Amino acid sequence: MSDKTRVPVYPEGHSGIFDTHAHIYDALRGSDSPVSVEDILRRASSCGVDTILVPADNRETSLRAVELVKKWDGFEGIDLYCSVGVHPHEATSYDEETEAFIIDMVNNRDRHKIRAIGEIGLDYYYDHSPRDVQRKVFKRQAELAFKLNIPFILHERDAAKDCLDILLELKNVGMLLRSPGVCHCCSCSAEIAKELIKLGFFIGFDGPLTFKNNKKTPGVLDVCPLEVIVAETDSPYLTPEPNRGMSNEPCYVPFVVDKIAQIKGITIEEASRITAQNGKRLFRISEV
Ligand SMILES: [Zn+2]
Repeated sequence: MSDKTRVPVYPEGHSGIFDTHAHIYDALRGSDSPVSVEDILRRASSCGVDTILVPADNRETSLRAVELVKKWDGFEGIDLYCSVGVHPHEATSYDEETEAFIIDMVNNRDRHKIRAIGEIGLDYYYDHSPRDVQRKVFKRQAELAFKLNIPFILHERDAAKDCLDILLELKNVGMLLRSPGVCHCCSCSAEIAKELIKLGFFIGFDGPLTFKNNKKTPGVLDVCPLEVIVAETDSPYLTPEPNRGMSNEPCYVPFVVDKIAQIKGITIEEASRITAQNGKRLFRISEV
């Protein structure tokens, strides 16, 4: 799909931007041309990104995320944070040992710069794990997040109803934090997004918001109050326009911020500041 003759366009004139979801460790193995953490962070910094959260999807990437963040935190003035947890694709790998690992990591969260459990949730689009296992493992980790008093990063695809049912069940038994986390790369309907916001969730927007043929996501953004919106890349996937089709990096998150500004009718500076402040509130990075 990717076209090696294309030259990426870099965003200009931004500052103070927070990419709340970048799988930097995947960029190292997934892209066409070799990239290094150093290059990724340098480009992010020169495009105005100063904070990045690196999410995990299994035990191995949890360790890689922690390692990466500890090694590179502060490089080029970028604050790095991470999460630990098991993605629905990998739900069958979740066992007692994995749970003990997550508990141990989160109990040392400050030392490891861990700000969330995730990504966790349900994915019925790919169905890489049986749905009943996905539901069980999602619920288990969401309960863990409550017990450990830490937000979680929700991944939901084609499973909005079951997802919401589990969240409501947890809410009913008092096992959902007041600010439970973020619905990352929101692909649900505006109606479901409203329900998630009522439950206290933040809503994450990525490259698809910028896709010309995507009418749905701007409609979801429309119903989100400014104070719940965060900007993310999900890099190295879902590259925003004008670089769609190339490998994604945190340096492109300003294109998402620009689109948020345009749809919400605010300035780029406001959109940068508000989404970054929201991200810091969401992940309890600072009281803003
Ligand atoms: Zn992700």
